[in-house]
Amino acid sequence: MRYRQVFFEFGGSVIRKIFPPSTPPTPPAPPTSAVAAAPGSAGVPPASQESGQDAHAPGDPHSREMRPASVAQKQASLRRDPQLEGVASDLLASAGCAGLRVSVFWNHALRTTAGLANWRLLRITLNPRLVGVSAGEVRRTLVHELAHLLAQHRAGRRKISAHGPEWKLACADLGIPGEPRCHSLPFERRQLKKQFFYECPVCATVMARVRRQRRKVACLRCCRQFNAGAYSEKFRFREIPPPDAQRAAGG
Ligand SMILES: [Zn+2]
Ligand SMILES: [Zn+2]
Repeated sequence: MRYRQVFFEFGGSVIRKIFPPSTPPTPPAPPTSAVAAAPGSAGVPPASQESGQDAHAPGDPHSREMRPASVAQKQASLRRDPQLEGVASDLLASAGCAGLRVSVFWNHALRTTAGLANWRLLRITLNPRLVGVSAGEVRRTLVHELAHLLAQHRAGRRKISAHGPEWKLACADLGIPGEPRCHSLPFERRQLKKQFFYECPVCATVMARVRRQRRKVACLRCCRQFNAGAYSEKFRFREIPPPDAQRAAGG
């Protein structure tokens, strides 16, 4: 993996981010130094609980290194979108909240999260990969997140549940009645669907990804157990059909 995983506080919830490297990949350093150089891992869930835990790529001992993102890294991955802010303002006005101003940012650091709403900052954050899905999906995610901000704005200081009746009403007022919540996480965010599945030929560990893997990726568990942690072609993940397709084919 050419990504570094970090965790940070976002509106009271811990969000996992995966940042692409800011510099081209460097020649591999001894794995021991990579481990020793990783600060800030205290308080972070063990890597084995993460979706990226099972894989690593050849020549990249840094793939599992976790450290907090610097402020500069966070800033660099954000891009404001005044046009979408205008769309949001118009929608809010049509819902009777002309005075409410929200900011809209694209965040290149988002991986599987499609969108986020932060009602304290009145900020919506969108995943640039939505653009590759469809214009409709961009708008849908924008309105979904906007409904979170509108619902909380109307509720004032009262605490409301993320996808409760207030949010559903806001969705209807913003033109997307019947919007699904898409997820059961406590924090309001929409997830991109994982469509690509890979299996380790030895231990049958399955890895799910939003995007097709272009690099060679091997099973970390088997590489550690049988190959001293180094990449081996023997444990390379093979693409398999999605579980739904397997079930359909089996019966
Ligand atoms: Zn939501
Ligand atoms: Zn394996």
